[in-house]
Amino acid sequence: SKASYKWQRVLLKVSGEALAGDGSQNIDPKITMAIAREVASVTRLGIEVALVVGGGNIFRGSSWAGSSGLDRSSADYIGMLATVMNAIFLQATMESIGIPTRVQTAFRMSEVAEPYIRRRAVRHLEKGRVVIFAAGTGNPFFTTDTAAALRCAEINAEVVLKATNVDGVYDDDPKRNPQARLHDTLTYHEVTSKDLSVMDMTAITLCQENNIPVVVFNLNKPGNIEKAIKGERVGTLIGA
Ligand code: UDP
Repeated sequence: SKASYKWQRVLLKVSGEALAGDGSQNIDPKITMAIAREVASVTRLGIEVALVVGGGNIFRGSSWAGSSGLDRSSADYIGMLATVMNAIFLQATMESIGIPTRVQTAFRMSEVAEPYIRRRAVRHLEKGRVVIFAAGTGNPFFTTDTAAALRCAEINAEVVLKATNVDGVYDDDPKRNPQARLHDTLTYHEVTSKDLSVMDMTAITLCQENNIPVVVFNLNKPGNIEKAIKGERVGTLIGA
């Protein structure tokens, strides 16, 4: 029964880059299907799953701003639209294997998805639907990590599960330093004071202020998403 798992309601953050895998396309359907399958198996256990999806595989505002006269806000709106593409792809994948899914966007695109309505999102979760939050926070100058922290707090989810392409948080860059060690746990303070690249400052401090634990884990290892959602030890756990 669901009472035997650590979390009852989770916020799963999937970055855009994780969706791309190492293929040549923006989205690797093997990855979206793997996510859908693992999410399906935990929703069957009664655990409620909300998702925030990034857009970095398609467009990242900060790396385009400034070029060819593109101001930061315009660039960020394009980035937010990119997250909607990923959300619809994920929704279609999930529904293809029978998981009822709703996409809610932070700004209106009512022909495509529901607008974000907090109470409605919670109702969907209670009915066993997966809710995918798209378009980030709806504001330029923010990130989808911040959207994940914000939505997590709003819907009273218990944890942000940040699915990435690395095993967790290391004490050094594992690509450059083969001796780099993986942290099992970290405090919010360690993350912010050592400037560890886990999430941006806005996102991590929002988690800290609301006592939301964050689990950073590798989504490319089969079974990891399921483990993280069930609250089994995986990756790095950040908390008080
Ligand atoms: N973005 C934004 N406000 C938000 C969330 C996202 O402006 O609240 C824009 C921003 O340009 C960002 C892009 O959307 O670069 C894609 O999101 P993000 O970089 O967070 O995606 P991820 O790194 O998770 O793939």
